[in-house]
Amino acid sequence: MKAAVLYTVGCLRVVDIETPKPGPGEVLIEVKASTICPTDLRKYLGHTSITFPIILGHEFSGIVTELGEGVNNVAPQDRVTVFPIYSCGTCRYCREERYNLCNKLSGIGGAVELGKKLNGSFAEYIVVRAENIFKLPENVDFEEGALIEPLAAALRGIIQSNVKPGDISLVMGAGPMGLLQVMLLKKMGAAKVIVSDPLPHRRKWARKYGADVTVDPYTEDLGEIVNSETDGYGVDEVIVSVGGSIEAELISQALKFTSKSGTVVVFAGTWPLKYTTIDPNLIHYGERRIVGSFLYTRSIFERALRLVASRTLNLSDMITHRYPLERIEDAFRVVYSREGIKVAVLP
Ligand SMILES: [Zn+2]
Ligand SMILES: [Zn+2]
Repeated sequence: MKAAVLYTVGCLRVVDIETPKPGPGEVLIEVKASTICPTDLRKYLGHTSITFPIILGHEFSGIVTELGEGVNNVAPQDRVTVFPIYSCGTCRYCREERYNLCNKLSGIGGAVELGKKLNGSFAEYIVVRAENIFKLPENVDFEEGALIEPLAAALRGIIQSNVKPGDISLVMGAGPMGLLQVMLLKKMGAAKVIVSDPLPHRRKWARKYGADVTVDPYTEDLGEIVNSETDGYGVDEVIVSVGGSIEAELISQALKFTSKSGTVVVFAGTWPLKYTTIDPNLIHYGERRIVGSFLYTRSIFERALRLVASRTLNLSDMITHRYPLERIEDAFRVVYSREGIKVAVLP
């Protein structure tokens, strides 16, 4: 089969390798659509360490083509997407059903590497655990199927924010995850969603996906705008959906933009690690909370799939660029340029 193998930082080659065989409890899937996650780009650029060589990609859908021994929950020709996280099942977090916090977590395509390395979906075929497969309802196409994973992650962030109908929310960063969160906040009844992002085309998309107010944080005073939009109280929740080292400073700012008892969700990772200072009195006297959001659970993944199947959320125009597997480096370049929303690789 053809696969895009990342041999080392920046060295991505589409090569012919042996098609993997499904072992007991595993399934071979023919990949039909794979979208690129910012974390794939970070690994390609060497901002996150990973075990080479590896096939990246964890947001995907496809067709079941071969069953390993003992598999009976799916059949050949089933259209499916995959919950790409394998937890160990035995550590304390797994015993408490907090699987996304598992100490030995492994993610398909190197999405997480606390456990073993698992090759990903930037290939013609992939072998996965049968129990991680979710069948796609008939009205969900392969591209939407690939987007269930990022939607599940975005949804986890929104659930962590504790948003309530009538809230005023702020989303910092209108990348793909921030845009999904704008949609989710509006669906959950936020009365007003403010979005800050320095890129004009991203602010335009944010408005398209439901943002009521958009702000360029480089040329406008976000704090002042938050004040005037909330009668000086601050927003009920801030989702910090910006990765990279700038995130540390944004968390400190976000806390100041939050109303008493409001929540700041730290949605992305800070790479390279950077520290920030926060005003502890905002937390003590104002009972503000800073919470994390990492991956999702199976139940959230299933909820994300239901939201798409029910057409409560329309993801169909989120994929702005499509490339064949042979041109995966061009696809990564588009993600790097931030000119699109989601970029798909179609083997
Ligand atoms: Zn992802
Ligand atoms: Zn575990």
